[in-house]
Amino acid sequence: MTTTHSAGHPGTARTRFVIAIDGPSGTGKSTVAKELARRLGAGYLDTGALYRLVALAVLRAGVAPEDPAAVAPVLAGLELRPPLDPDAQQHLLSGDDVTADIRGVPVTQAVTPISAQPQVRTWLHDLQRGTALGGRMVVEGRDIGTVIVPEADLKIFLTADEAERARRRHGETSGAAGDVAEVGADLRRRDLVDSTRATAPLRPADDAEHVDSSSLTVEEVVARILAAAGKRGIR
Ligand code: C5P
Repeated sequence: MTTTHSAGHPGTARTRFVIAIDGPSGTGKSTVAKELARRLGAGYLDTGALYRLVALAVLRAGVAPEDPAAVAPVLAGLELRPPLDPDAQQHLLSGDDVTADIRGVPVTQAVTPISAQPQVRTWLHDLQRGTALGGRMVVEGRDIGTVIVPEADLKIFLTADEAERARRRHGETSGAAGDVAEVGADLRRRDLVDSTRATAPLRPADDAEHVDSSSLTVEEVVARILAAAGKRGIR
C-alpha cells in the first residue's frame, strides 16, 4: 500500500478520515476523487473498479452476468486487492493486468446486472468498508455515504447535467464507446438501473453535500470539496 498517512501539521490535521464521493456515471467523480486524494496525501478507492473486476471475472468464466447461481462460484474463487495510490491504479485479476480491460464495452455492459445482485454487493461490502476505514481515504462510488461508510466524515453527491456527462465520457473513451448520443444512451441505461435497483440504489445520503459540476472546472469542484473538508478538520 502506498497511501501516505501523513499527519500534516501536528494538532491540526486528522490522521484518519473518510470522504465519500458518490454520484452517477460521467460526473467527473474519478478525476475529482483522485485529485482530492493527492492534495490530502490520502488513499483513493475506486469501488466501481471492483464491480468491473467482478464483471470481468464473470465474463472470463463464460457465465451469464444476469444469472446469480452462475455468478456465485466465480465470487467464491475471487481475490481482489484494490490499488490505493491515485497515481498508480493498476488492477489485477488472477495476476493479469486488466486495467484497460475493465473499461471496455463488454465489462461496461455486464457490470450493471452484476452490481444489482445482492450477493455481489455483500461480497464486496467488507473489502470496501475495511479499506475505507484504513486511514486517510477518499472513496468513490454509488453507495459509499449511504451503505458502505454511513458515518463518513464528509459525503459529497456529485452531479452534472446529462449532455455534459455524455460529452465528458465520450472524450474519456476517445470514441471507443460510440458517438456522444450512444454514450449518453448508455449512461441513461446504467443510471436508471443503478438508481432503481432494490439493493443499495444510487441516491444521495440525507447529509450529503450536493455539488453540480456541470459548469465548474475540476479545480473548482476540488476547491469546494477541500473547503467543506477543511471545516471538518480534514486538511
Ligand atoms: O464508477 P463506474 O462507472 O466504474 O462503476 C461501474 C458500475 O459499477 C456502475 O454503473 C454501477 O452499476 C456499479 N457500482 C455500484 N456501486 C458502487 C460503484 C459502482 O453499483 N459503489
